[in-house]
Amino acid sequence: MTVGTFDRLDLRHDFPGLLDGNGVDWHYLDSAATAQKPQAVIDAIARAYGVDYATVHRGVYERSANMTLAYEAARRTVAHFIGAASDSEIVYVRGATEGINLVAQCWAGEQLKAGDRILLSMLEHHSNIVPWQMVAEKAGAQVDVVPLTADGKIDLDAMAAMITPQHKMVALAHVSNVLGSVLDVRRAADIAHSAGAKILIDGCQAVPRLAVDVQGLDCDFYVFSAHKLYGPTGIGVLWARQELLDAMPPYQGGGSMIDKVTFERTTYAPAPTRFEAGTPHIVGVVGLSAAIDYVQAIGLDAVHAHECALAGKARSALEKLNSVRVFGPEDSAGILSFEVEGVHPHDVGTILDETGVAIRAGHHCAQPLMRHLGVEATARASFGLYSDEGDVDALVKGIERVRKIFG
Ligand code: PMP
Repeated sequence: MTVGTFDRLDLRHDFPGLLDGNGVDWHYLDSAATAQKPQAVIDAIARAYGVDYATVHRGVYERSANMTLAYEAARRTVAHFIGAASDSEIVYVRGATEGINLVAQCWAGEQLKAGDRILLSMLEHHSNIVPWQMVAEKAGAQVDVVPLTADGKIDLDAMAAMITPQHKMVALAHVSNVLGSVLDVRRAADIAHSAGAKILIDGCQAVPRLAVDVQGLDCDFYVFSAHKLYGPTGIGVLWARQELLDAMPPYQGGGSMIDKVTFERTTYAPAPTRFEAGTPHIVGVVGLSAAIDYVQAIGLDAVHAHECALAGKARSALEKLNSVRVFGPEDSAGILSFEVEGVHPHDVGTILDETGVAIRAGHHCAQPLMRHLGVEATARASFGLYSDEGDVDALVKGIERVRKIFG
């Protein structure tokens, strides 16, 4: 691994996925959807499926005992990575989506009564909207929506003015997957707590881009997915304060989550085991741990500075082009949504693809935000720690070509 200067990382060569099938540089600007994997993570996964492979927790032979040690050591790695008080506050889930559903069902599903309210924001991903609607409908609770500031951040002054003691849960994105807006989580948590509400933070886009310390942020629940953090798909993390987890009923029933089973009565294992029914994604956990080791060796402050610099450069270049409108705040964290006037974002994406530039085009699972912005869809370029100025130049050149074609 080569680490460049503070705001210029040089890591492309760690990522085999950044070459196309012909060995040519591919300008991958869709890291907010899923990140490419460093060779170190691919190797860790291959080893875990190869010479190290065995199940966890139940084996009486050495390889299984070793895999169990690796699986639980990874929990400590995750806890340390996000500043949790204890590794027993870390629950392995399939991803952020499952983490939010778990909290919606096992915390809100138990706590909410008719007349209670849940507070979300206008920029949330569908994963942080639909699970709350489902649980609210069952309980007879209401969902309220915090508006955005003119530059596309969650408006915390408005949140402070609208929160009431009826609000039992606030659920907000740490970083918007569309606009890159960064939430002042500490202030949002203070506002939520002053009304007696709990706060869940969707950290999907934050954990790969910012140093996160859940205790310092003072939130109650935090979720993220490994695949956006340079790790494997199918694995993610729910962190919750120990006392909250301890008071929550199981999510799913099955093997591994029990204490004692009889046909008359079953008792459950303590958290976090209680929430991990069935054979877990053993190799996914090993891959997640390798991904954390990889980003920690670089340092998230360096990653953040690098991505902000690239997003800033792309923003000012795009803003100089006539007929390109860039959404979101100036200080967006490595994610840039834009539209080229008169051109559907899908056409923008297709033309860019012809020049070896991969962006995302669509509603980004944030239809309420699209409606708020007055568009059906946007084009989105999102950076990773491996992105470089060549990617920005290729993006800008590609957009100039789009304008020529549609000119
Ligand atoms: N929240 C945000 C902000 C996201 O960007 C995403 C993924 N696009 C999710 C939640 C859902 O993550 P996953 O699909 O990995 O569960």
